[in-house]
Amino acid sequence: MKRLLFFLLVITTACRAQSSFTVIPLGVKGGTDESNLSSYAVAAKGSNNYVCLDAGTLHAGIQKSIENKTLQGDATSWLRKNVKGYLISHPHFDHVAGLIMNAPEDSSKYIYGIESCLSVLKEKHFSWKSWANFANEGEKPTLNKYTYQTLIPATETPLTNTSLYATPFVLSHVSPNESTAFLVRNGANYILYLGDTGSDRIEKSDNLNQLWKAIGPLIRDKKLKAIFIEVSFDNLQPENLLFGHLTPRLLTEELNALSNYCGKDALKNFPIAITHMKPYKDREQKIKKQLDELNVLGVKFVFPQQGKVIEF
Ligand SMILES: [Zn+2]
Ligand SMILES: [Zn+2]
Repeated sequence: MKRLLFFLLVITTACRAQSSFTVIPLGVKGGTDESNLSSYAVAAKGSNNYVCLDAGTLHAGIQKSIENKTLQGDATSWLRKNVKGYLISHPHFDHVAGLIMNAPEDSSKYIYGIESCLSVLKEKHFSWKSWANFANEGEKPTLNKYTYQTLIPATETPLTNTSLYATPFVLSHVSPNESTAFLVRNGANYILYLGDTGSDRIEKSDNLNQLWKAIGPLIRDKKLKAIFIEVSFDNLQPENLLFGHLTPRLLTEELNALSNYCGKDALKNFPIAITHMKPYKDREQKIKKQLDELNVLGVKFVFPQQGKVIEF
C-alpha cells in the first residue's frame, strides 16, 4: 500500500511538472521582414492538431520548421492537415498576410475572431476586390473554404477539431481600434497570447487592467503557463509615436499592474514571451537589454525564434 501511494505521488508530481502546450513560432517579427511576421502555431502537448494565433506568415515559417526538423513533410501539406483554425487578433496585414496568401492551397477550416476583426476580413480582405472570397460570408459568390466564427469577449469557445478552448479579451490598439488577447485552455492549463496592444495609460483604456484582473488568479494557481506579449519599440520611441504598441518601460508598467492581481512572487521566473519587435537598425538588441535592466520582478523573458519549438 505504501509503495502504491509512493508511485501515485511520483506520477502526479511528474504530470504536474510536464508541459501542456507545444508552440511553434511560424513568424515572430512586427514588420519589415514579410517572411517572418506574427504567427504562433499552438497545440496541446502530444497532439498534431494546431491552431494559429495570428497568421502573418505561414508558409515560410512551416518551411523553416521543416528545415530545423521541428516538422516533417512539405509545408503546404502540413498546413492543410495540421492547422485546424486561425485565431486572428486584429486584421492588420502583418497578422493576416499568410492566411490570405495561402488561402488558395489551404484546406477547409475555421477563422475565429471578435466581431470588429472579422468584419474587416469580410469587407476588406476576402472581398473579391483585394482577394477572392474564400470564406462563407461577405461579397458573393462565397467559396466557403473558411467558416467565420465570431467570438464573444470573455466567453470561452471550443476550437473545432482540437482539444483546446479560447476566451477572447478586447485590447486597445490606437483607440478606438480593437485588438484581441486569446486565453487558450488545454484541460486545467492555459497560455495567454496578446495581439498588438498599447498600454492602458497611453491608450486611456482599462482593457489591460481587466485582462490582468481575469488572469491574475490563474498565475497565482500556476495554471497559466506563459504570456505572449508584444514589445514593438525600444524606450527611445516617443510616447506620441507608439501607434498602439508597447516598449520595455510600458510592459514593465503593465507587469507591475498584473502583479497587483497575482502577487509579485508568482511572477518570479514566469515565462513572458516577447513578440512583434519591429526590426530597425539595432532596435531588437536594445529592447532585450532594456527589458533585462527593468526586470525587477524577475520574470523569465523568452524570445521566440521562427521554426524553433517552445513547450510550456
Ligand atoms: Zn496592428
Ligand atoms: Zn502588428
